[in-house]
Amino acid sequence: MSYRIGTGIDYHQLAVGYDLWIGGIKIPHHKGSVGHSDADVLLHAICDALLGALALGDIGLHFPNTSQEFKNIDSKILLQRTMELISQKKYKVVNVDSTLCLEEPKIKPYVQQMRKVIAEIIGVDEDDVSVKATTTEKMGFAGREEGLFAQATVLLQKTI
Ligand SMILES: [Zn+2]
Repeated sequence: MSYRIGTGIDYHQLAVGYDLWIGGIKIPHHKGSVGHSDADVLLHAICDALLGALALGDIGLHFPNTSQEFKNIDSKILLQRTMELISQKKYKVVNVDSTLCLEEPKIKPYVQQMRKVIAEIIGVDEDDVSVKATTTEKMGFAGREEGLFAQATVLLQKTI
């Protein structure tokens, strides 16, 4: 049985006047993520982990932020398209582990919903999707609420 592991990391600025999309969920907050797409830091980290597992490059290669096609795009579509690439290579997801890092808002109330959304798109059970959260203890850009970041690890298994 062939297995592949991948890791992904993503960062976005936080600013007033933007929506805060994390893990496919729109979270009420006075600041949102700045980016070319909907700037969903968690879904982007998971896309990069999936691509990384099969050495397919990174999210910027497949969905360039210079392309009008991806302007304001829902990152759930990017994750779907990434999964198509994984399926074409005859792999499926075994599990995902991820960590979000931001000072505010507290995302615990939304974690279950995020796991459900992600699990549906990548074709696993909710129990196979872990979303954890931490802060930088007020230090650095995340501590000052200038930005947020996410890290993800995925395990893929060959289907044939
Ligand atoms: Zn991103």
